[in-house]
Amino acid sequence: MQINQENYYSEAANREYFSVSQYKSFLSCEARAMAEISGEYERPVTKALLVGSFVDRYFEGTLDEFMKENPGIYTRRRELRADFKRANQIIEIVKTDPKFMDSMSGEKQKIFTFEMFGVKWKIKLDSYNPGKAITDLKVVARMDRLPQWRYDIQGAVYQKGVEICTGDRLPFYLAVVTKEKVLDRDIWQIPQSTLDFALRQVEENIGRYVDIKEGRIEPEHCGRCDYCKSIKKARVRNYNELLEA
Ligand SMILES: [Zn+2]
Repeated sequence: MQINQENYYSEAANREYFSVSQYKSFLSCEARAMAEISGEYERPVTKALLVGSFVDRYFEGTLDEFMKENPGIYTRRRELRADFKRANQIIEIVKTDPKFMDSMSGEKQKIFTFEMFGVKWKIKLDSYNPGKAITDLKVVARMDRLPQWRYDIQGAVYQKGVEICTGDRLPFYLAVVTKEKVLDRDIWQIPQSTLDFALRQVEENIGRYVDIKEGRIEPEHCGRCDYCKSIKKARVRNYNELLEA
């Protein structure tokens, strides 16, 4: 199938294509990833995710539509809830920061599809500056927790995908703003050696995930995520397991 803005997040698209979020889902729990692909399980939309989308959609120029699609962001008195008032303040502050706005000045939500390591991939870029840069926007709680989200994987796949499609190997940046009382913001470039290392890991893991996705091997259950907990049955276990963790 041809991927476009309308069908990008559809079940059919997720069955046929790998994406960075699907790959990361396999990485954290194979069983949950498969349940998401089959439509059996949906990860809850958290307030943090919605705040991120709010800021994303401002930059995309579609904030009005977003506010119509998500009436839950308002109180009964039709006022924005506190988190989204904060999101508005974040937008107002980064709007006055020339470096930040410059980093987000490319084409928004640009989709690429390509073949890599023998499978089809789909990616959607927050800001794409042809021949110059790929930038992804992140609204996070704190700057120092950034690495735990493994954005190196996202950068590696985006960079390689754009290179396969256009021939240009572009630097990958994260335009990051925090939600702290006094908000912090910076543009982080992920070094090439870090991207290369992350891409090698994708190459090593993807074969197993393709086999799982196509039903040739059974997914493993992590036993700790919300999906695994939702389908588990109690069993008798050795208390000392808890002390070793
Ligand atoms: Zn799990």
